Amino acid sequence: MADENKTSMAKQSEPVPKGMQNAPTQELTISTLAKKILDMDKQYDLSKILSAYQFAKKAHAGQKRSSGEPYIIHPLAVADILLDLGMDTDTICVGLLHDVVEDTQYTLDDIRKKFGQDVAILVDGVTKLNRIPIFDKEQQQANNVRKILLAMSHDIRVMIIKLADRIHNMRTLHFLPLEKQRRIALETMNIYAPIAHRLGIRTVKDELEDLSFYYLDSFAYSEIEHIMEIKKDEREAFIESIKVRIRKRLEEEYFAKEPIIEGRVKSIYGIYKKIYINHKSMDEIYDKYAVRVIVSTVAECYMVLGIMHDMFRPLPNRFKDYISTPKSNMYQSLHTTVLGRESIPFEIQIRTWNMHVSAEYGIAAHWKYKEGIQGKDKMEEWLAWVRRVIESQQTSDDVEEIVRAIKNDLSPEDIVVMTPRGDSISLPVGSTVIDFAYRIHTEIGHKTVGGKVDGKMVPLDYELKTGEICEILTSKDPGKGPNRAWLGIVRTNEAKSKIRSWFKKECREENIATGKNNLEQEFKRAHIRLPESDWEMFLADDLKRHNCATLEDFYASIGYGGIMLSKIMPRLKDRYVKEYGSEEEPENLVTPVVPQHESSGKGYIVLDKIDDCVFKFAQCCNPLPGDDIVGFITRGHGISVHTVNCVNYQSARKRNDPDEMARWLPVQWTNNASTLIPTNIEVIAVDRVGLVFDITKILSESHIQILHSSSRSLRNGNAIFEASVRVAGTDQLYTIMDKVRKIHGVITVERAKK
Ligand code: MN
Repeated sequence: MADENKTSMAKQSEPVPKGMQNAPTQELTISTLAKKILDMDKQYDLSKILSAYQFAKKAHAGQKRSSGEPYIIHPLAVADILLDLGMDTDTICVGLLHDVVEDTQYTLDDIRKKFGQDVAILVDGVTKLNRIPIFDKEQQQANNVRKILLAMSHDIRVMIIKLADRIHNMRTLHFLPLEKQRRIALETMNIYAPIAHRLGIRTVKDELEDLSFYYLDSFAYSEIEHIMEIKKDEREAFIESIKVRIRKRLEEEYFAKEPIIEGRVKSIYGIYKKIYINHKSMDEIYDKYAVRVIVSTVAECYMVLGIMHDMFRPLPNRFKDYISTPKSNMYQSLHTTVLGRESIPFEIQIRTWNMHVSAEYGIAAHWKYKEGIQGKDKMEEWLAWVRRVIESQQTSDDVEEIVRAIKNDLSPEDIVVMTPRGDSISLPVGSTVIDFAYRIHTEIGHKTVGGKVDGKMVPLDYELKTGEICEILTSKDPGKGPNRAWLGIVRTNEAKSKIRSWFKKECREENIATGKNNLEQEFKRAHIRLPESDWEMFLADDLKRHNCATLEDFYASIGYGGIMLSKIMPRLKDRYVKEYGSEEEPENLVTPVVPQHESSGKGYIVLDKIDDCVFKFAQCCNPLPGDDIVGFITRGHGISVHTVNCVNYQSARKRNDPDEMARWLPVQWTNNASTLIPTNIEVIAVDRVGLVFDITKILSESHIQILHSSSRSLRNGNAIFEASVRVAGTDQLYTIMDKVRKIHGVITVERAKK
C-alpha cells in the first residue's frame, strides 16, 4: 500500500501530538514550495519541479486523504521534506510523483516519457518499496526487510524518499483507526527510524522516533513532555547564560571564523530511552539540554575543549572523543559534561561544520552540499555498510534470526576496536575476538587460533571494548577452519553466517548425517511418528521456506545450524496433530519401549499393557513421559524405569561393574499409550492470602488431578506449597509449572523428588 493515509476510514481518534515542532505550521502550497526553492543557494530546475507538481495534481485529481484534504497535499509535503534535507531536483520531482504509479491510471512509461529515465527509475524503486509489507506473516518479515535493504542499495535516494513519505504519514497518523496507528508506528520504530539512524539523518530519525513513541506509549510521552515543560523557562535561561559566558570567553581567542554557539534539547524519545533503558532518573540525564560549539577545524575543536575544561569543572568519565574514533554511523564530535553554576551539569558538544552537517543530515548531506564538503569516500562508506548488512543475510536460512540480526546490525550502540595498524573497526557491543577476525577478513576469521588485546593473550570469547587494540593470531595450516562451538560465541550475524557457510561447504556429508539424526531425535521427542518416505511431503513447506531443493539440503542446513530445530518443531508438531490426528490420546497408556535384551538382537519391543507388570517407575526419580529414561532389570519385579539423570543410575555408571551394567538397558517412551502418572511439584512464593487458591485454581483449570497438597509458611516471609499431581508427561507438567510461575509472588516452581 503506497500511502497508509489514503483509506477513507477517517476516524479522529486522538489529538495531534503537542510539541511536534518539525511539523510545518504554515499551510503548504506549491507557491510556498516554489518560493522556498528560489530562496535556496542551491541550483534547482524549478520548471521541472512545477511540471511534476502539475502532473501529480492531475493524476490524483478527485482523490482524498483520510483527513479529507485533497490527496496532492501528501506528495507536496513529501517534496517539501526532501527539499529541507537538501535533496536534488530529481528526488524532489519523485517526492511529488511517488504515489502516481501505485494509485492512479498513469504508468511508469508515462513518467519516463515526461520526466526521463532517472526520475522513472526512482519512482519505480519507491513504488516497489511501498509494495513490500513489513509486518505480514512472521516468516515473511525478514525477507521483506531484506528486500527493503536491497532496494536501498541500488539507489539510496529511494530510501530517503521513503523516509520522507513516512514522516508525512506519521505526522498525519491521527486520522487513521487506532489499530493501524499502532501497526504503522511499530513499523516506523523498528525499521525506518533505525535505518534513518544508520544513514545518519538525525533530524529524520528524531522525528520518526518521537512520532512513533507518541502512538506506542502516549502516556509516557506526555509524562516526559510534561516534565520537560516544568522549569522550562528556568532551564532555558540557564543555557542562555552559559552561551553568553562561552561566547565572551571565545572572543578572547583567535578563530579562523567566529564559532557558532547553540543550545539544543534532546528528543522526547531520547530521554525516554535513557530513563527506561539505562534506568536513569530525570535528574541524572545531563544532556537533556546541551550547548554546541561549531568551529572550522579539528584543531580548533580540541582548543575549545581545553577552554571549556578551564571554564567549567568536567565530570570524570564523561568525556568522549568521537572525532578520533567516530561512531559506527560516522558521527563525529567531542562530548564532555561539565558543572555549571550551582553545580548543574550540562553537556557540551564540539564539532566542525563538516561534522555538524554530517551529524544532522548524514548521507543526505551528500546532496545538500555536493560541492566538496562531502567526499565520495563517505558515500562509499555508507554504501559499504548497507552492502555488509545485506551480505550477512545471505547465508542465514532462518528468517526470524534475520529480523533480529538486522535490528542488531542497525543498533547504534557500537564499540570501536583498533587493528595493530591503527584502523578502527566498529562492532556491536558484546563482540568477541572472533567477530573482529571475521570483520577484518573471512579467511582470517576461519584461520583464527588466538587473539591478543593490548598485547596480552586473551581467550577467543573475550568481549572487546572500545579503544582496545586487537591482534589476531592465525594458523598457517591451509586446512584449518572454524570450530562449530564458535557459533555460540560470536555476536555478529556476519561472523555467524560466515562460519555457517564454511561448514556448509566443507562438511556437507557430515551435516546431512548430523541434521538427519537431530531431526529424528526431535521427531521422537515430539511423538511425530511418520515413515521416512513421508518426510519429504510432510516437510515440503519448510523446505520451501528455507530455500532447500531437496530433503538432503534440509538435513544439511540443520546440520550446520542454518535451520534451528527448536524454532520449527512447534509448527511441525501442530501440523502433525492436524494432519495425522491427535498427538497423544489421553485414554491410552504411555509405556516405555524396552528393547529386547541384546542377545535376542531383534530391536525394540513394545509393551503396551501396564498390567503386564513387566516394568515399574522407580520411586527414586519418578520418571515422566518426556524424560530421558533407562531401565534396570530387577530380580523378580520386571524392569524398573529410571531417569537418565537419576543418582542411582549415575552412580552405577561410575562404579562401572560389568555385571551390574549388563542389567541396565536403554528404553524409550512410545506414544501409542498413555496413562496419568503421579509426580510432585514444589512452589516457593511470597506468603500472602489467596496464594494456595491461585495455585490450585491454575491446576484445576488445566484439568490436573491433585492427589495431595500441603502448604506452610517459612520463617523468611515466604511460603512453600507442595502437591502431588497426576500428569501425562513432562510437556504437560512443564506447561502448568510455567503457568504457576506467572502467579503473583511466586519465586520458584520445581519438580520435586519424593
Ligand atoms: Mn506516499
